Amino acid sequence: MTAETQKAPVRILPTRKPWIPNLQTWSWSITILWMSIANIWHPFGLYGLLCMFTPIVIALTGRGKMHCARVCPRGSLLGLIPRKWCLGLKIPAFMHTRAFRWCLWGAMMGTFAVLMVLTIPKGVERLGWVILVFMEAATGLAILFGFLFAPRAWCTVCPMGFTTGNLRRLLNKQTPEEGSR
Ligand code: SF4
Repeated sequence: MTAETQKAPVRILPTRKPWIPNLQTWSWSITILWMSIANIWHPFGLYGLLCMFTPIVIALTGRGKMHCARVCPRGSLLGLIPRKWCLGLKIPAFMHTRAFRWCLWGAMMGTFAVLMVLTIPKGVERLGWVILVFMEAATGLAILFGFLFAPRAWCTVCPMGFTTGNLRRLLNKQTPEEGSR
């Protein structure tokens, strides 16, 4: 037996919580509908907060990254990008590191926090619009990743996916490598 085959098998910790039905065949329409309405009626941009907190709530119920696998409207939207339209570039190795994902997480969450502090006093109309623009920028970046690399390449670095992976790791007491899957 070679040293390779003697390696301990990767510890997979499947969740015992019931799975949410797969909504990703149609959940992309939530993103389109929400952005369309919120661009006309800015207070509806507040719905973006629900999009941000749903993955966290699902992860906190012990379902790990089930939101990514079954629900995420943005992931569903990215999945619509035809693979033949992608340049198929290789994702740079540094983007797979936890250091990079922590930096991106800090930059995006920090920006969002500052925007909230500055905007909340200005009222619902302005707040909804700022959340919408923030989410549209993130979605635009995700789509750019899709065309450069592969449709769901954004999921490699996505701060929400990274957050739920970390929560799963904390709740299951997994290693960082297991938690980031
Ligand atoms: S990694 Fe991000 S974009 Fe991808 S499915 Fe998960 S939450 Fe959605």
